[in-house]
Amino acid sequence: MTRFANLNKPVPANVTELSPTLDKLVTLIAKLPGLGRKSASRIALHLLQSSTEEALELARAIQAVKEKIHLCASCGNLTEDKLCRICTDPKRDTRLVCVVESPTEIIRLEKTAVFRGLYHVLGGTLSPLDGVGPESLRIQELKNRLHESQINEVILALSPTTDGDTTSLYLMRELKEYGVKVSRIARGVPVGADIEHVDEVTLARAMVDRTSVE
Ligand SMILES: [Zn+2]
Repeated sequence: MTRFANLNKPVPANVTELSPTLDKLVTLIAKLPGLGRKSASRIALHLLQSSTEEALELARAIQAVKEKIHLCASCGNLTEDKLCRICTDPKRDTRLVCVVESPTEIIRLEKTAVFRGLYHVLGGTLSPLDGVGPESLRIQELKNRLHESQINEVILALSPTTDGDTTSLYLMRELKEYGVKVSRIARGVPVGADIEHVDEVTLARAMVDRTSVE
């Protein structure tokens, strides 16, 4: 394809008027986090000008991610198999389960290398104002695990935000009947901070200094 636009130059805002197909692509890209319509136009033009093979490789990669990756049947981590690599690792301590909001926190806690147990991904925190109730999270799945496996301690590693605290308190109440030790990671995590933005050293310390809530 002839190069018809210099990508280093500002992309004219009305570039999508050239073609409804291009307009659709720009609209879809602009929905991605952190991208406005201007950047989306630049990316769309770049794709249009790259080789067919290169552009289709990206399309196929997006398709593969959607088709192959799903939640681990046990912990809710992301995996391409039935169970994730942590749940299938024979060296992990299966009596310890750390409850996190999302798979991103697993990656961060794994980097600290202080935790050798298993995880349980809730899929968010309770948020009454946003209509997120217990049934929207993987709480029943956690209870099932407590029923089915020999678990001695559940460590709550949720963000010290209002919603994170609400969720921790709810879980402490709900897990009482299972006779399992429940602890929370220490408040080395700054109050109000999203756990995603806490540095690894602080997070490692918070895990080591966790306190029992019984
Ligand atoms: Zn798993």
